[in-house]
Amino acid sequence: MKVGIIGTGYVGLPTGVGLAELGNQVTCIDREISKIEALKSGKITLYEEGLEDLFHKNVKAGRLHFTTSMEEGVKDADLVIIAVGTPPHPVTKEADMKYIHAAATELAEHLSGYTVIATKSTVPVGTGDVVEGLIQKKNPTADFDVVSLPEFLREGFAVHDFFHPDRIVVGANTEKAKNVIKELYKPFEGKTNMLFVKRRSSETIKYASNAFLAIKIHYINEMANFCERTGADINEVAKGMGLDSRIGPKFLNPGPGYGGSCFPKDTMAMSYMARQNGVDMTLINAAITGNSARKKQMAERILNAVKEVKNPKIAVLGLAFKDGTDDCRESPAMEIVGELINQGANIIAYDPKAMGTACMLVGNKIQYADNMYQVLQDADVLAILTEWNEFKGLDLIKAKELMRHFKIVDCRNLIAADKAKDLGFDYQGIGK
Ligand code: NAD
Repeated sequence: MKVGIIGTGYVGLPTGVGLAELGNQVTCIDREISKIEALKSGKITLYEEGLEDLFHKNVKAGRLHFTTSMEEGVKDADLVIIAVGTPPHPVTKEADMKYIHAAATELAEHLSGYTVIATKSTVPVGTGDVVEGLIQKKNPTADFDVVSLPEFLREGFAVHDFFHPDRIVVGANTEKAKNVIKELYKPFEGKTNMLFVKRRSSETIKYASNAFLAIKIHYINEMANFCERTGADINEVAKGMGLDSRIGPKFLNPGPGYGGSCFPKDTMAMSYMARQNGVDMTLINAAITGNSARKKQMAERILNAVKEVKNPKIAVLGLAFKDGTDDCRESPAMEIVGELINQGANIIAYDPKAMGTACMLVGNKIQYADNMYQVLQDADVLAILTEWNEFKGLDLIKAKELMRHFKIVDCRNLIAADKAKDLGFDYQGIGK
């Protein structure tokens, strides 16, 4: 199948590479010239495990192309996937639809023959109708259908999730469009759940899922606060809860709050949509408020640990919003670092993959280390902010030799608390 993908970011690029690997002819389109030039010259533009090898393999095989030209990517395509950003509107915090509207309008004039337009971006309910209207207005004779094809990949596992999806949700209003999507995902037939629903249901499933997961994270964080006051241990509590198949063990890890490019914006967009439709979604609203406060509380915790020290040096491990990615968008780690910077703190940080993206956000307001031990040199407190596996293996004896004061604020419960305390560290985890 000939596929054009509009938007070559964290969703568009892994999707393009994955679809090419399945044998499709894929053209990834992006308006950012430097991104397309880098990709054309063989340089991958984001980190996802396993992506780079597949990218080179499919470029070499002639199945994966990159362009800034909408015409080049859309003409003759059987399927055009929209994977542009839907960031929060700067004022209302609803999903800002300007990129979706621009993509729909720009693609319209290049359609030829029957084409399915699939929206993979996370979009408010009713967007399919809007996209349909924009295309019809620009190109009244175009033969097309618009389907909703929400993306559920987890950053850090994008390649794995592309090839092993939990479910594929398709919101299609015609049989012809359904058949094109069925053909696309034929290699996954019998291996995953494929759910065909109304377009509006499909658009809602994505927001309903993300809001639910955000609430689950917020819930375990509040439970962690409760454990801290009562002498219970959140890890034990979460384990006990997770053994109940109705609850499940996932998303019960307490931490510094949810973040990333999806949960914060999608909860706000869902809350906005609910209000517009006269529905008061109290749980989502509570999660938004509580999650925002949580990052400030974590920064206070770190500053409190060194309140006796003059000009303390704060060592930060982790800047990405989660492990396995270089993405720092809405990263709790970055928000905590931002709070610390505002308080005039002296920070040195290390992240295995996200140093470049973090540097674009905070530049020389912090120092950067080459590895997790360099960060500890003369540090007064160690703050662990992202759950990278590498940090679990931190040699505490070596850490003690390097640090000036032996304090750890472990916002991800990565370090063995007993071992740290036995070695003389003043250790604070979450929910213990
Ligand atoms: P991104 O910012 O990484 O990438 C979007 C790309 O679209 C950018 O490179 C931008 O230059 C390009 N673009 C914007 N308008 C364009 C246009 N008119 N023509 C060509 N290119 C254009 O965004 P992302 O993280 O990939 O997210 C894309 C969508 O997918 C969002 O709606 C997001 O909510 C959703 N989503 C993201 C994830 C995730 O893990 N990142 C997961 C599921 C769903």
